[in-house]
Amino acid sequence: MRIVAVDPFYLRMPEITSAADGTQDTLLVRIRTDAGIDGWGECDASPLVSIAVYCCPMSHGNIINIRTSLIGETVDGPDDVLRLSEKVLRNGLDIQQIQHAYSGAEIALWDIIGKKLQKPIYSLLAEMSATPSTPHPKLPYASVLFGDTPEDTYHIAVALREQGYHAAKFGWGPMGKFGEENDIALVRAAREGMGSDTQIMIDAGVVWGTDYETAYKRAEAFAEFSPTWLEEPLAPDAIDAYSSLTAKNPRVPIAAGEGSNTYRMAEDLITHGGVQFVQIDTGRIGGIMPSFQVRRLAEQHGVQYVNHTFKSHLSLAAALHVFATNPDFDLLEYPAAGSELSQRIVKNPFPVDPDGMVCVNDLPGLGVQVDIDAICPYLVPVNIHVGTETVFQNTFL
Ligand SMILES: [Mg+2]
Repeated sequence: MRIVAVDPFYLRMPEITSAADGTQDTLLVRIRTDAGIDGWGECDASPLVSIAVYCCPMSHGNIINIRTSLIGETVDGPDDVLRLSEKVLRNGLDIQQIQHAYSGAEIALWDIIGKKLQKPIYSLLAEMSATPSTPHPKLPYASVLFGDTPEDTYHIAVALREQGYHAAKFGWGPMGKFGEENDIALVRAAREGMGSDTQIMIDAGVVWGTDYETAYKRAEAFAEFSPTWLEEPLAPDAIDAYSSLTAKNPRVPIAAGEGSNTYRMAEDLITHGGVQFVQIDTGRIGGIMPSFQVRRLAEQHGVQYVNHTFKSHLSLAAALHVFATNPDFDLLEYPAAGSELSQRIVKNPFPVDPDGMVCVNDLPGLGVQVDIDAICPYLVPVNIHVGTETVFQNTFL
């Protein structure tokens, strides 16, 4: 099969707010082949910044855009995905955010290969790595933002509990902004709303920067509410601070990793930062294969791999295939409060089964179908002209 088109689509809600809600807009990438097989992927990225990486004019031999690298190439099996990833990253060596932008295309390539070979992606990964190929169900944790107040947070937690969630993560918003007492009240509210027989996770949203002493104090203060982890108390690249924090052995385990835009960043967090949970966003780190490599590294280091997914079930599918076959990596970030846009992107989202678990399906490729009619109203036309040349124009979905 030959690649005939690489189309990034900018979709967004009518209004964008400054809330830390990454579902307000998105970038979908569709790759088409001459065999009539299409693949889809989603980037967790600023859509227009990433579109630039797909279409920017060549500056020199190390700044060649993703489309130029992919169009006309053959793609028939997993080895082609690896070969093309190498080519894209080599051609874009001096484009600093190339992995991040390429994530959508890399995921789309896996989707194509899975559809062609009639196999789910997790099974292709198992074959390539000679690892077990049986998928295992995951406990979905609802991923939501803290309410503005402890009381709001309590009501959010109660509602999640009533929806049947046995685990939930609360993050960002007021956490870390109004002093220790308020921080503790937020966590207490989350625990009381969810009940004592559930798991709660706390996401501090990088609020303490490099201040590992405060992060340690909070982790100790939150311990009485038994959260599964304290996530991103520090900046994504504050590796030394993470190292200092984890060396103090706080009673609440430390999680981080969603800010990893490259495999190397995740490796640094695992080998030097000392985190106990590494959270990888397949739509940021460069796609499925670098995520899978982090999973393998986590296995070697006794660190638990968890997905980071705050987009649609298209992203969730890509995330799930990466670690579906490891029964010990049993938690799944499950978008629970996304925008109307994010909820309409696929026709067949992953349901929570009667046992409260989520399992990857056996359909070929990603196993989800993009609902083009449903997302058309959110498509933002983008036209980029450079001088007299049109370097990018949205094609119709
Ligand atoms: Mg987070």
